[in-house]
Amino acid sequence: VNVIRRIEEMAEICSAHRAKGARIGLVPTMGALHEGHIALLRRCRQESTISVMSIFVNPTQFGPKEDLAKYPRPFKDDCEKANEAGCDIVFAPEAYEMYPPEYSTFITIERITEGLCGASRPGHFRGVATVVLKFFNIVSPHVAVFGQKDAQQVAVIKRMVHDLNCNVRIIVEPTVREQDGLAKSSRNKYLTDNERLQAGVLYKGLLEAERLYAAGQRSSEVLRETVAAIYQTAPLVAPEYIEIVHAATLTPLLALEGPALLAVAVRTKESLTRLIDNCILGGEL
Ligand code: AMP
Repeated sequence: VNVIRRIEEMAEICSAHRAKGARIGLVPTMGALHEGHIALLRRCRQESTISVMSIFVNPTQFGPKEDLAKYPRPFKDDCEKANEAGCDIVFAPEAYEMYPPEYSTFITIERITEGLCGASRPGHFRGVATVVLKFFNIVSPHVAVFGQKDAQQVAVIKRMVHDLNCNVRIIVEPTVREQDGLAKSSRNKYLTDNERLQAGVLYKGLLEAERLYAAGQRSSEVLRETVAAIYQTAPLVAPEYIEIVHAATLTPLLALEGPALLAVAVRTKESLTRLIDNCILGGEL
């Protein structure tokens, strides 16, 4: 795989490919690659002729008390995994080139960034939207692939692409899971052994809500309480939110009619790791 560090070089390579008629696909990541990222890359390769994976631990999306410093950065391993998966280009810019000292411009998306994860992570989606727009401008991809695991992120990026007329198609891939249903995440490494044993309840709760929904249950309150009761069986798992919202606008729903997003976040009690997961009731993203 071709590893590019400099922004200008990346932009030149991409415009040369574009001029020759290539279709460029982008998979933005923070590295520490797992099967979820690889699934995104696979989809990207189906939808494009040149696949670009960005690997960048974006400082602007971390809060002051978050895990920026300890976030895993196994860069050599990541390049090998990207290479094996058939990635054409890894774009791994330096933070000081992405955000030089005079840097002043940020993208703020209103309303849909306020609830769910936005409530406990102020500034997070401002950082995400900013870095993703920068990647869109550098790479000019025809398509960009994101994971459903970060459902609010998908809603935010789709909102930005629409509002700012970005010329890119957003593709969403389903969540890749471990054997017990825990969504794969670079942050799962932080879990203690006991937390890891209990973390399967996240998905168990979602499955039970899906089962009740399929049986006709349409009350948001009943569905949320069912999930909460299942999470109570895991003493090391403390829910931060269990919400049912409109899949695009992320406004809370009382009764389910169209497609709804059931989104959950928990914090574990030993390592204080934050885990998220979600499912769509009555449709897809
Ligand atoms: P990250 O490196 O965690 O910022 O994630 C980069 C991209 O991979 C985002 O679009 C995530 O939604 C996606 N992603 C992360 N975990 C998973 C997973 N378990 N299944 C599918 N996509 C994922």
